[in-house]
Amino acid sequence: MRLHPEPEPIAPGADFAQMVADSFPPVLLASLAHLTGDMSLLRDALAPDSTRVLEPDCGYSQSQADGARSLAIDALERYRKGGCVAADPLTDEQAAQIIGFLTGAPPEHDYLPILLEEISLDGDRRAPRWHKSEIAPDSDITVGIIGSGMSGILVAHRLLQAGVSVVIFEKNPDIGGTWLENSYPGCRVDVPNHLYSYSFAQTGDWPNYFSTQDVLLDYFRACADEFGVREHIRFNTEVSGATWDESEARWDVSIVARSGASELVSVQVLVSACGQLNRPHFPDIDGRERFAGTSFHSARWDHDLDLADKRVAVIGSGASAVQFIPPVVESAAHTTVFLRTPPWLLPAPEYMEELPESMRLLLRHIPDYARWDRCWIFWRMHEGLLPMAVVDSDWPDQERSVSASNDLLRELFTMYLQVTVPDPVLFDALLPKYPPLAKRLVLDNGTLPATLARDDVTLETCAIAEITDSGVRTIDGKDHKCDVLIYGTGFVASEFLTPMSVTGRDGVDLHASWDGEARAYIGMTVPLFPNMFLMYGPNTNIVVNGSIIYFSEGEANYIVESVRMLLEKHLESMEVRRDVHDVYNTRIDEGNRAMAWGASHVNTWYKNASGRVSQNWPFSLLEFWQRTRKPDPDDYILTSKNNGDR
Ligand code: NAP
Repeated sequence: MRLHPEPEPIAPGADFAQMVADSFPPVLLASLAHLTGDMSLLRDALAPDSTRVLEPDCGYSQSQADGARSLAIDALERYRKGGCVAADPLTDEQAAQIIGFLTGAPPEHDYLPILLEEISLDGDRRAPRWHKSEIAPDSDITVGIIGSGMSGILVAHRLLQAGVSVVIFEKNPDIGGTWLENSYPGCRVDVPNHLYSYSFAQTGDWPNYFSTQDVLLDYFRACADEFGVREHIRFNTEVSGATWDESEARWDVSIVARSGASELVSVQVLVSACGQLNRPHFPDIDGRERFAGTSFHSARWDHDLDLADKRVAVIGSGASAVQFIPPVVESAAHTTVFLRTPPWLLPAPEYMEELPESMRLLLRHIPDYARWDRCWIFWRMHEGLLPMAVVDSDWPDQERSVSASNDLLRELFTMYLQVTVPDPVLFDALLPKYPPLAKRLVLDNGTLPATLARDDVTLETCAIAEITDSGVRTIDGKDHKCDVLIYGTGFVASEFLTPMSVTGRDGVDLHASWDGEARAYIGMTVPLFPNMFLMYGPNTNIVVNGSIIYFSEGEANYIVESVRMLLEKHLESMEVRRDVHDVYNTRIDEGNRAMAWGASHVNTWYKNASGRVSQNWPFSLLEFWQRTRKPDPDDYILTSKNNGDR
């Protein structure tokens, strides 16, 4: 995977009509205005309609598309004749003009600085603007990072850019986290890759709109290598616990190597980057240990097992299961799917498509098309379906839908299901009984319904009573015999930082202090746990808008700025104030209760055992960005190196 592909010159006789055939015309004009400096390409009549961003073609008419493509072809011809020389780098004003063309938003809108960062025309808009050698050359500080997945690589890179030393503890033999562990067949991202990538490491080299796990792993490996992060990672090293040493103002991190050898490593700052989805959840079903066949969890796929001639049973129908069920069905003799709660399906025709040759050609010659596509996708998704998830308390029948717009969504999704599932029995089994957006949507290009309709598939909606030595018994007494049992049953998401034992100030144990209710300030800091930061921590998951990488970039920024504050103010520690943390969390809970996923009673991994939404962020992307610019010293109890103030 090439991280920063250079534009290839266009040869005489190039087929421009083919090159632009599959592009989205406004993004094409934006990229060409950037490439050629010709802002006259940005004609009002060819701008997308910002009120129709959620429609499949965003309301762009055929005559607009034809007009935009012919303008683009002329611009490409001029560019080629001029020797394929790119215009001077854009000024921020010019970039804002192009962004305004794409988004329809006024020049001074709140999202402009975010979009400038997201497209990062000058390489890396979010890089730290300070260096330790300038602000605190003599201070000894090392940041310990737990995990080298998407977030761990990112925060390590940012700290290294600022000249701060890091050590990363990784339980696996390689980087990648969730993209390493989830290698099940069919695994792919469900956010378009032009957005699901670091803002500062964009590439037009993705083979698919939504790439597969191996490609994503390749991308994160390339990033870790290019950023020089790999040499700071201690692989095959699991953190079993960490204890805050008040007198030394440091974290003593207990690590255990694969060999069983244990060690204590001291760091001044601790970052957990192990995320929400890394410990497999096995359902509490009687008899699990009795099963005599082969069984495994989707995140621990048994690649040595040949499913040919096997009867396979799958428990679960979440985002993981719906991805691996079609390839499993292709290989197995028979598959039984145990479905408890069907997901709402979001039509996505391009979901499994490779990029057409025309688009690859365009990206070879104009790699920055991917950057402007990112800008456009970000804008389309920044609110996404969020307004449709907001509960209208006056809306009747909240079990069906939570507002008029949510009900409209329900109608649209139901119509899609009617078209893709002609069999009335299957349709009834797949029609969710809860409001859309209360649970994670599943992208669908028709593959899942077609798979479940096959003769060699049984869809079982009767609840599971127990697991026997030969299969699964449902509560109607029926035995479903199988040779292989696959758990697509998700993760213990709400049990943050398990099974580590983390001890903070005054000997307080993190899990005891949470008492099943993991909370943090902006998802990152916890009272009594100084100099500790969580990435993808409590209430930082998004449901229907944006990309989780955006959140990690905000968190990395906040952590780097916190380290800067420690260094600049000669502090030993910063600990979030209890009142600040509590007020924030009250607001988070109110926010989540007002959303479909908080109001509905449907099962989801968004809620913890007590029923509180412990995973999701209920507010805008803008608010998260604003909150993660830098720490407010007033939010923290600061302990100074000189006088030990607290
Ligand atoms: P999940 O969404 O939590 O799904 C778990 C499934 O197991 C659900 O269908 C659940 O049914 C079922 N289940 C659990 N216990 C059960 C029991 N006792 N009996 C019957 N069924 C049971 O987990 P996941 O599919 O691994 O996905 C988790 C998250 O990972 C996703 O929401 C997403 O954020 C992420 N993910 C992303 C991608 C992607 O980007 N493409 C792919 C995979 C995962 P109920 O619904 O009834 O509880």
